[in-house]
Amino acid sequence: MSDQDTIFALSSGPPPSAIAVIRISGPRARSALEAMIGRVPPPRHAAFAKVRDPASGDVIDEGLALWFPGPKSETGEDTAELQVHGGRAVIAAMLKALGRLDGFRLAEPGEFTRRAFEHGRMDLTAVEGLADLVAADTDAQRRQALRQLGGNIAEQAEAWRARLIEARALLEAGIDFSDEGDVPKNLARQALATIRPVAEEIGQGLHSHGERLRGGLQVAIAGAPNVGKSTLLNRFARRDAAIVSPYAGTTRDVIEVHLDLGGFPVTVRDTAGIRPTDDPVEQEGVRRARQSATMADLALWVLDAQTVDAGALAAVADEMRQTRTRVWFVVNKTDLIGASHRDEIESLFSDPRIRFLASATTGEGVDTLVDAMGQFAGQFFAAEAVLVTRERHRRMLQLASAALAGALALDQAHGTEGREEIIAEQVRMATRALERLTGRVDVEDVLDVIFREFCVGK
Ligand code: GDP
Repeated sequence: MSDQDTIFALSSGPPPSAIAVIRISGPRARSALEAMIGRVPPPRHAAFAKVRDPASGDVIDEGLALWFPGPKSETGEDTAELQVHGGRAVIAAMLKALGRLDGFRLAEPGEFTRRAFEHGRMDLTAVEGLADLVAADTDAQRRQALRQLGGNIAEQAEAWRARLIEARALLEAGIDFSDEGDVPKNLARQALATIRPVAEEIGQGLHSHGERLRGGLQVAIAGAPNVGKSTLLNRFARRDAAIVSPYAGTTRDVIEVHLDLGGFPVTVRDTAGIRPTDDPVEQEGVRRARQSATMADLALWVLDAQTVDAGALAAVADEMRQTRTRVWFVVNKTDLIGASHRDEIESLFSDPRIRFLASATTGEGVDTLVDAMGQFAGQFFAAEAVLVTRERHRRMLQLASAALAGALALDQAHGTEGREEIIAEQVRMATRALERLTGRVDVEDVLDVIFREFCVGK
């Protein structure tokens, strides 16, 4: 297999479909058009044509042919596109005919995009944005992916990199003038004045929750056994907004529900009951439930209206004390209690915004809870200027941030004099982290991981 091969693949959805798009990219793309439609259409204009099997001369189908000469094409290579009818036999005959051409082979998953990256048509974050766009389930995910594909983070990283390179040049000039008194000091001052705002901006960029928008806001349903956790989750799953609901387990039907709340993805997960126990097997379950609740962005702590009291609330507060997870209380089974008991329960909570009275059986109060979750998600993902959409981005920005913080701390503690080289080295490390972010350097290790996300034909 070689980069010199001309690759082809079905780029549209699985057959049968109204139209099938077959993409061809590589040095012989032009000859495929000549062999199959007998001519090469003018660049970037659709041409109606009979598509023939070059081996037999038989017409396979009629359709549109497009020609995009490199380097101004999607992949940067010569590419061609054939749009034919999306029947299985048509597609099979097309792929077979192309496969018989010399130097042609079927594309690997993501190979078109990989070639685009390798020819400099896309940077690494744009490739990731494209993968996210294809995978987007909700509107907010789509918008975020599109921003990233459009160069949101790449442009920002490049701008920071340019400023840091300037700072490094100043520092290095200072090193060259090291015996000329005030010159190096002034240059180092200037360099630090450039570094400081970059460090601040990177720090701000790290504050967003873009990675979460890819996977969804994580909500855990926690509480003791039999308080109604799985009944509540099943009620969420029956709503129109539930986009997926994988089934698992035997005693419980749904363990995870994906909701689309106002365009924001929210994943709600049921946990096994949390209660003190001596049984080692159950202890493991409790440990996992606790972990799931403390790792979530929001925990819905379900309590039974018949038994809830101040002690139960204190126990939950104690359980969640060490975490950053937001906790809401869902007092369930309100259908089983009277009005006076209800007042009593309400008076237990000093903050009514985190208390929800509900009945998972009758559905009472569930809409209020879901609306509140939607608002929470909206606030959580509020920043439209989200920069970091993947853990990988966060890691690289953290590296850059730490290196710059090191440089600034050094200056603060000792001043710059005689330390220009160490500061320059820190700035170089930060620059390198930004280069790894956009894929300018060190890409091999991440490429395979990223391209695995793509399907054939992309
Ligand atoms: P989990 O162990 O916390 O997941 O609790 P389940 O959802 O399995 O519910 C335990 C029992 O409580 C089941 O018999 C449910 O039918 C019942 N249950 C759950 N929610 C309600 C509710 O709001 N009202 C009433 N009356 N029963 C409920």
